[in-house]
Amino acid sequence: MIIELPSQYERIEGKNDFARVREGVLELKGNYDFEKIMIEMAYLLKGKNRCHYCRNSVPEDKITIDHLYPLDFGGVTITNNLEPACHSCNSKKSNMNQFEFNIWRTINSKEEQKSFYHKTIAKKRARKMNPKKKKGFDLPKKWVTYRNLSAIKKITKAENRKSERFKKMLMFARKYHKLPRPLIISSNYILLDGKIAYSVAKVLHFEEVPVIILENVVVLR
Ligand SMILES: [Zn+2]
Repeated sequence: MIIELPSQYERIEGKNDFARVREGVLELKGNYDFEKIMIEMAYLLKGKNRCHYCRNSVPEDKITIDHLYPLDFGGVTITNNLEPACHSCNSKKSNMNQFEFNIWRTINSKEEQKSFYHKTIAKKRARKMNPKKKKGFDLPKKWVTYRNLSAIKKITKAENRKSERFKKMLMFARKYHKLPRPLIISSNYILLDGKIAYSVAKVLHFEEVPVIILENVVVLR
């Protein structure tokens, strides 16, 4: 997929470490924090002083970043999935995606809102935990594809396999025979985000893994 990029962007971290946009392509080299870059870009593209949902103006130091498709259901930190939101909308939206939240907002009674929320999340959870549903994510289908794990290169240091996040994801993948989130890779197949999921797939010898390939991002070596 092609992600939204600002026309100009440059972030120099060190002598040989940088992130920059050149002719519509995000070039990354050396040490970079992909998540941080995506959030910074989302604010550049979408502003920092208005909530995407209620359209109220929000002071810059009170703005939060919302994942249109929620993190818990495979939502990824890429510009296309990020919108500035006020704290109130962000916490009300919780694990709903933007479409579900828009419906939720039209419901008048608190009780019915509650019941809508629980039904919606239960349905998504059942899909996530169904081993037969290969793509159990709450994400646009065309974003996600499958690739051999061996085709993906990881150039950052190894993940801490004793961390709680690693153990939790390992348990999920072992139980449901799939990853709870896709890996994000550059056009030249270098892992950008999803390091824990990558390590879990390695440990469990998964052959194929869900990936989101960012066609307009390249890692320079
Ligand atoms: Zn709001």
